Amino acid sequence: MRQRLPVWLKRSLPEGSTLKTHGILRQHQLTTICESAKCPNRSECYSRNTATFLLLGEVCTRSCSFCSVPPGKPKPLDENEPVRVAQAAKELGLNHVVVTSVNRDDLENGGSHIFAGTISEIRKQIPKAAIEVLTPDFCGNWDAVLDVVRAKPDVFNHNMETVKRLYPRVRPRAIYERSLELLARVKAFDSGMTTKSGFMLGVGETDEEVTQLLRDLREVNCDIVTVGQYLQPLERKMDIIDFVSPEKFEEVGFAAKAMGFREAYVGPFVRSSYHAGEVYERSHS
Ligand code: SF4
Repeated sequence: MRQRLPVWLKRSLPEGSTLKTHGILRQHQLTTICESAKCPNRSECYSRNTATFLLLGEVCTRSCSFCSVPPGKPKPLDENEPVRVAQAAKELGLNHVVVTSVNRDDLENGGSHIFAGTISEIRKQIPKAAIEVLTPDFCGNWDAVLDVVRAKPDVFNHNMETVKRLYPRVRPRAIYERSLELLARVKAFDSGMTTKSGFMLGVGETDEEVTQLLRDLREVNCDIVTVGQYLQPLERKMDIIDFVSPEKFEEVGFAAKAMGFREAYVGPFVRSSYHAGEVYERSHS
């Protein structure tokens, strides 16, 4: 059942138009996670000509309880996707480009070469732009992770999504330790790479578990953390267990900063790609 939103989760529509962003995405036949995941920030982001590109098709080989990306059997890869993404990013005028993907567990390398190709196309077409990738876990195929690292994105993001105990319910095909190891491996492959991870509150986690997750992320030297409220994207997806107050978010933000993250972006509307450019800048100031 859809729950009524508390007052702090109600927001007015932005003043700017979203038409330009929609037009460019349509013209290049691109999908965004903003639409697929029914992100609550999409009017704001689209009106600022920002979007997060979804690579590797529109269908996911997993079916996480929190995510509205349709599960199923994906179509063959489009090897030209990197070029279209880079063109669209250029036309949108992005100076910080975020790309993510569905899980492609049907492919041996999980589609890592498309991530790598997209990074180099964006570098070619918009040399000054910062590039952030938000990748799946590639089923622990570290060669696939290395493919992406070698393409040299500015930020390598992999979301933990929730605390360890809730993995079987929230991310049934993922493994908590494997996701942490991915972040550790990225640093081991390239110690200068900025790493980032994010998770949701409101899915049944305890304060102690949140603290442990933050500690685990620091343990693998994760630089940036994002924390937001889970919102049910479709009625058939997992229920919201609680609406976490803005004050509680503030506490989590303080705790994260005290633990030594270079940047902690924490709040009810925060998503890993929300204001990603500003977050990256702050982490380097
Ligand atoms: S927060 Fe991220 S996913 Fe949501 S609309 Fe903005 S760019 Fe898209």
